[in-house]
Amino acid sequence: MTTASRPTALITGASRGIGRAIAVALAPTHDLLLTARDANALAEVAVSATALGASCRSIVLDLRDAAAISSTLDGLAPDVLVNNAGLAVMKPFLSLTPDEWHSQVDVNINALFHVTRAVLPAMVARGSGHVITIGSLAGRNTFVGGSCYAGTKHFVMGFTESLMLEVRDAGVKVSVVMPGSVDTDLFPEGTDRSWMLEPADVAEVVAHMIATPAHALQGRVEVRPLSPKRPRL
Ligand code: NAP
Repeated sequence: MTTASRPTALITGASRGIGRAIAVALAPTHDLLLTARDANALAEVAVSATALGASCRSIVLDLRDAAAISSTLDGLAPDVLVNNAGLAVMKPFLSLTPDEWHSQVDVNINALFHVTRAVLPAMVARGSGHVITIGSLAGRNTFVGGSCYAGTKHFVMGFTESLMLEVRDAGVKVSVVMPGSVDTDLFPEGTDRSWMLEPADVAEVVAHMIATPAHALQGRVEVRPLSPKRPRL
């Protein structure tokens, strides 16, 4: 699947929001493995990415299902993994249901183990590869309603930076991108989005991170909006 001229990127949560934007940003330079639960939305993203030059494969997968992740992804050897999928239920702790707690932990934390575990061995064996996880400024900050979500994003920081130290000498890069608020479905209808980052802003940072020189690792990047929002250059 991997060729010297056209690397492959596996993107989780590629059906919408930031993951969709990352697929579009990487399409001119990468072939794509796109995963999420919504098959129709993935197919629509694949059409857009194909028009930009990518060869695409959609993989319908629920990241709460560890066994399904292993059976579906084992044996894939992408050059880049973007651990992007995530969900946020921002409520006071005493209002969170067990299902809301477990879903966030399963997708935002446990899937990092299962997805990364499926593709990292091939990167280490090859002596190259890049694992990028979409964290959040909530991985550094705390807020009312963030006991689970901010907790999962703090986990991302410890996971990413420990893994980076483990595999950098094997030639594999591990990075975390920490956006502030981005205008996506993560926020409920009616939220004021006028000041937020666009998904494409985060995607451009990811593409830039991948394009850094082979011997240089950009480990951690925070992405914040300028206010008021300016037109794109
Ligand atoms: P989004 O628009 O809601 O997209 C979330 C993506 O995750 C979707 O593609 C969704 O696909 C996928 N997903 C959710 N649950 C899943 C599951 N059980 N199995 C497989 N895929 C699942 O949210 P977003 O804002 O783009 O979020 C992407 C990442 O950015 C998340 O990690 C989020 O924490 C992070 N982030 C977002 C913001 C923000 O302000 N929006 C800020 C900082 C960090 P399906 O529903 O099709 O499965």
